[in-house]
Amino acid sequence: MKKIIVAIDGFSSCGKSTMAKDLAREIQYIYIDSGAMYRAVTLYCLRHRLFLPNGEVNAPSLEKEMGRIRVSFRLNPETHAPETFLNDENVEKDIRTMEVSAMVSPVSAIPFVRTALVAAQQEMGKEKGIVMDGRDIGTTVFPHAELKIFVTASPEIRAQRRYEELKAKGQKADYEAILENVRQRDYIDQHRETSPLRRAEDAILLDNSHMSIEEQKEWLLQQYHKATQE
Ligand code: C5P
Repeated sequence: MKKIIVAIDGFSSCGKSTMAKDLAREIQYIYIDSGAMYRAVTLYCLRHRLFLPNGEVNAPSLEKEMGRIRVSFRLNPETHAPETFLNDENVEKDIRTMEVSAMVSPVSAIPFVRTALVAAQQEMGKEKGIVMDGRDIGTTVFPHAELKIFVTASPEIRAQRRYEELKAKGQKADYEAILENVRQRDYIDQHRETSPLRRAEDAILLDNSHMSIEEQKEWLLQQYHKATQE
């Protein structure tokens, strides 16, 4: 069967990555979490003190160091789940903290950061057979993707899901702070100049506010079968 590119975009914490991961496993495609790449660059900035006291990024310093930042994915040999590496260090856990979530949107709004990561993402999709999720996959990274999905759910439902996810991992979680973070990220992601979050004209819209994970999985698999039959 011909291999395609599946682009899944949408708002933060709306379950894109769960859907994308499940689909990739089912159809034996490579799964790439593009948000993890922006998070890894943000972690690098935090560790190298590249944030100014006002919360902005020290862009000239980051630009000089950008060539030294390598983000890659490797499969965990036990769980078979892809994990994020920053210059050969496994940072899968460190990139999921609230500290990183709070700082990631300004980092991902920087044009040279996007240029570098988009180029790396396009390289990963050269051979097709890939499911990638993010904000600009169907619009900028793979505008010719054969299947594009745009996922949305209400901010309250997304904050609740994120809250439960953090709790389940035994991490600190404050629902109001998470809701505020979700709203702020929505705003910055939709209003930045370079590649703002928007639905590609040919993307299929999915509001999963009231869908179970199992229902979403089934729905996405059907879309994949339709796209590969066309
Ligand atoms: O998907 P996730 O919430 O982990 O992404 C973290 C952040 O990375 C988003 O809030 C967004 O600012 C940024 N991002 C992006 N473009 C992508 C993926 C993520 O700007 N393709």
